[in-house]
Amino acid sequence: MEHRADIAVVGGGFGGALMAMVARRMGHSVLLIEKGTHPRFAIGESSTPLANLFLQQIVEQYDLPELLPFRRWGEWQRKYPNIGCGLKRGFSFFHHNLGQKYSEDENRSRQLLVAASPRDEVADTHWYRSDFDQHLIGEAQRLGVEYFDQTELTEFRESAEEVTLRGHRVGEAVEFRTGFVVDATGPRGCLFRLLGLAKRELPLMPSTSGLFAHFKNVGAWPSAEGVPYPVEDAAVHHVFDGGWVWMLKFNNGITSAGVAAVKPRAESLQLCEGRTGWDRLLGLLPSLGEQFRGAESVGDFVFARELSFCTSNLAGNRWALLPSAAGFVDPLLSTGFPLTLLGIQRLAKLLSAWPSEAELEAYRCQTLAELDQVSHLVGALYASMDDFEVFTALTQLYFAAVSFSETAHRLAKPKLAGAFLLCDHPAFGLATREICNLVVARGRRDEVLGRIAETIEPFNVAGLADAAKRNWYPVVLDELFSAAPKLRATESEIREMLLREQLL
Ligand SMILES: Cc1cc2nc3c(=O)[nH]c(=O)nc-3n(C[C@H](O)[C@H](O)[C@H](O)COP(=O)(O)OP(=O)(O)OC[C@H]3O[C@@H](n4cnc5c(N)ncnc54)[C@H](O)[C@@H]3O)c2cc1C
Repeated sequence: MEHRADIAVVGGGFGGALMAMVARRMGHSVLLIEKGTHPRFAIGESSTPLANLFLQQIVEQYDLPELLPFRRWGEWQRKYPNIGCGLKRGFSFFHHNLGQKYSEDENRSRQLLVAASPRDEVADTHWYRSDFDQHLIGEAQRLGVEYFDQTELTEFRESAEEVTLRGHRVGEAVEFRTGFVVDATGPRGCLFRLLGLAKRELPLMPSTSGLFAHFKNVGAWPSAEGVPYPVEDAAVHHVFDGGWVWMLKFNNGITSAGVAAVKPRAESLQLCEGRTGWDRLLGLLPSLGEQFRGAESVGDFVFARELSFCTSNLAGNRWALLPSAAGFVDPLLSTGFPLTLLGIQRLAKLLSAWPSEAELEAYRCQTLAELDQVSHLVGALYASMDDFEVFTALTQLYFAAVSFSETAHRLAKPKLAGAFLLCDHPAFGLATREICNLVVARGRRDEVLGRIAETIEPFNVAGLADAAKRNWYPVVLDELFSAAPKLRATESEIREMLLREQLL
């Protein structure tokens, strides 16, 4: 069977489905090719303010209003109550010593709570991917995308006029002819293998493994009086020397939990054994063990021997990889969604006309530079998991960059925040990389902490890195007003933006 379209998107996760919808709205005929079937388990669930903003921009620019409610908890709950979702008011971190119960001191020096939104209505979400991705596939089909599931591609052939993809679908040979292929199949995916692309090192990132599953009947983590938001309505991170555990609670009784750890730690815990590896880990984290006492896994544990990945090339004349297929650093800081959504925006621009070599080269460079910046930061975070003060300070580089970028975009000043994590900013981007190098090289702590404070200051629009707050950072809108000059904005511009976004 032969099928033809202007564009073929390979990989029917949220990235592929959204890319296909955008291409369709641009007037292209589109094929979407998926090797599995929906609904299916997928990992990568926690969104962020910047990810939701990029989603909103895509929805508005390409006229996809049915997807707008997914940008926020309140709208999502009203419009799509049956699509699983978690409430994410912020980022919660707790630092554990292996073998000991979690304990707190009066300075809250073993925890960090950073709010991302002032109230539930406008909060971020965790996407229950089996529901969410299936819904997007249905939406794509409704817009006229031709969808092929259970399709395994085995051949990629490029000529001057087109690309031919061959493979099989439920035992039958299939052939697709197209002008351009977007690969949305995730790390080590379709084109990486069919084109024999080479791997590329991610700077400062140690080799890590992951183990994860969905659970039911997970207990509650204790909260305290006066917290900026309920600590579990968040992406919860339990950090220990050599790794960290994530926990994301959904509104359907499911909790997504997993661990990412440097190889020696993953090997000593024998995470590759799945459930028994997980139980071994909980044995070393007694407070978490308590929380999981009555929990049961739903479905299988997944072990990922190599979590991080990066390809050396990600675009050619008639093909491009989404950032999520080009590389992955770590779940820490939830950078996968914003990078994927940025990639969709950039590829959509390229596909509005025939992409030139210079444009493809710019896409390659931007994507790799952003993955590298994430890798610097996450690599330094891994190197400081035994020193929570430095770890906390490093996270402020992330929070400063994303809150500054989000506000700049919302103020319609995107030039202030060109690239993800301000990686192309001559001062902030470079200083971040230098600081991360210093941390990994075990440089002097006072120098690291001093440089972080001085780097953040011109971009700190959210009252971050304030010792008086003792690691609790609620959303305080007054901070934004006083930071107006950093955003080259007036207080009335800030007020208008907050009103427009229903944040006041
Ligand atoms: C452990 C872990 C935790 C993560 N947590 C977060 C997080 O909290 N927040 C965040 O922002 N990001 C997170 N990420 C990253 C996130 O998973 C990705 O950014 C996101 O899934 C990208 O979506 P996607 O649709 O592009 O790719 P995927 O979700 O990987 O979907 C790829 C699709 O392609 C299909 N496919 C694969 N190979 C082929 C093939 N050869 N032919 C056809 N189809 C194929 C697959 O079946 C799948 O449906 C995490 C990643 C990992 C590994």
